[in-house]
Amino acid sequence: MLCYDDIKTNTQTPAVALCSGCGAGICAAHAHECASPTVVSNAVGAPTVRPDGRTLHCTTCHRAAPCGR
Ligand SMILES: [Zn+2]
Ligand SMILES: [Zn+2]
Repeated sequence: MLCYDDIKTNTQTPAVALCSGCGAGICAAHAHECASPTVVSNAVGAPTVRPDGRTLHCTTCHRAAPCGR
């Protein structure tokens, strides 16, 4: 898989992660890492335990919902 954000600029960079928001492949340069609480409540109220307390987002998702929200 290639980095989706790089594909848009005609650059082919191997993806090292998947955006947890949209599922796009992202390279290290485009991965936005957020330390999140161990338990996250989503929109329907079902808490999700994240063992590593970490989420990775692509640039687009990071702009839409910055870390800390
Ligand atoms: Zn995304
Ligand atoms: Zn990239």
